[in-house]
Amino acid sequence: MKEFNYVIIGGGCAGLSLAYELEINDKLKDKTLAIIETREKYKRDKTWSFWRVFNHNFDDCVIKSWNNFTINTSESSHELTNKKFPYQSIDSGKFYNKINLRLSKNSNISFFKNLTEINSENSIIFNSVFKQSLDKSELWQHFQGIEIETPNNIFDEEIINLMDFNCDQRNDVHFFYTLPFGKNKALVETTWLSDLEDESLMDYDLQLENYIKNNLGIKKYKINFTERGAIPLFYPPLENHDKVINIGSAGRMTRLSTGYTFLNIQEHSKFIVKNIDNINEAKIFNFGKKYQFLDKVFLKVLQKHPEKMPKIFFNMFKSSSNTIIKFLSNKSNMFEDINIINKMPKLIFLKALFN
Ligand SMILES: Cc1cc2nc3c(=O)[nH]c(=O)nc-3n(C[C@H](O)[C@H](O)[C@H](O)COP(=O)(O)OP(=O)(O)OC[C@H]3O[C@@H](n4cnc5c(N)ncnc54)[C@H](O)[C@@H]3O)c2cc1C
Repeated sequence: MKEFNYVIIGGGCAGLSLAYELEINDKLKDKTLAIIETREKYKRDKTWSFWRVFNHNFDDCVIKSWNNFTINTSESSHELTNKKFPYQSIDSGKFYNKINLRLSKNSNISFFKNLTEINSENSIIFNSVFKQSLDKSELWQHFQGIEIETPNNIFDEEIINLMDFNCDQRNDVHFFYTLPFGKNKALVETTWLSDLEDESLMDYDLQLENYIKNNLGIKKYKINFTERGAIPLFYPPLENHDKVINIGSAGRMTRLSTGYTFLNIQEHSKFIVKNIDNINEAKIFNFGKKYQFLDKVFLKVLQKHPEKMPKIFFNMFKSSSNTIIKFLSNKSNMFEDINIINKMPKLIFLKALFN
């Protein structure tokens, strides 16, 4: 069986981002790479959105960028503007096409369906696949989004609605998210922060139908695309093995308070490529222990007091747009952290800290 210098298990966002970063930095000129991926074919399956706090390789896969966003509760609405860090959405279909086209030109890169098809004994392995099924009783961010198209121009395409809590909460945390890709096209998502055991929360079609009709006031539309997902808001056990480096969600690249992962994956890929010649000696990449600590406390409060979360999120966004974006994108300094922490209700956070 053929041997490879590098093996990437899972050719999704993290696996392909890493392969691309290796390729464009000429690290695969005289090294071989095997990508193990089970899917039959690539097609648009997700929309990855984030604040662009640093340059990445996929500007040409961006559907749209925005400088304005709002957050709503049933009582109030707050609008923020930021020209420095636009919010961007990436079309995963374009992302897969771009990367696969580039990788197909290098004969040192091969795709396989199963690890058993190659000899990986002496390879450096990057793994993006969870080793076991994850606990449904833990906290998840689960959602369904639909890209809708309306016959008339309805949306203000310059502003996104990041969180709209003006909806049924059903004793959990629930909000809608609207990204207008054009005047008559938008991705509308219903998002829950809860465990995955209560299937009654998953009547997503009905939730979206009611929200589009009653909150957005849209009667006629067609659905172009649907995405559905569940992001674990907890860290599954790492596969601890000398030769295996975990990447992507399996490598703890998800920011647990928000589910944002895409840009952390890009940063991790750059880190790996920079250290590729001594990767087994390099420290384990981490996007910031302080965020992991703060998110843990935040999620404890969320689980204990779901009814307080719309107001807590709303107040958090009362900080300056730079501060909140940098905080949510793991780029804040100590003063910005303190600014955010100051917006939190002290007593319940202190209780969560010590319990
Ligand atoms: C619908 C959806 C929308 C999201 N939106 C955002 C967003 O807006 N912003 C953001 O920052 N994050 C978002 N995320 C979170 C995160 O960015 C994505 O989940 C991202 O795809 C994680 O990358 P990954 O490589 O870890 O996992 P994946 O992209 O899921 O890649 C894993 C790959 O492994 C393959 N695979 C599975 N089992 C095996 C096996 N046994 N052997 C080989 N291959 C296997 C899969 O087919 C897949 O291609 C979203 C997640 C989902 C599900």
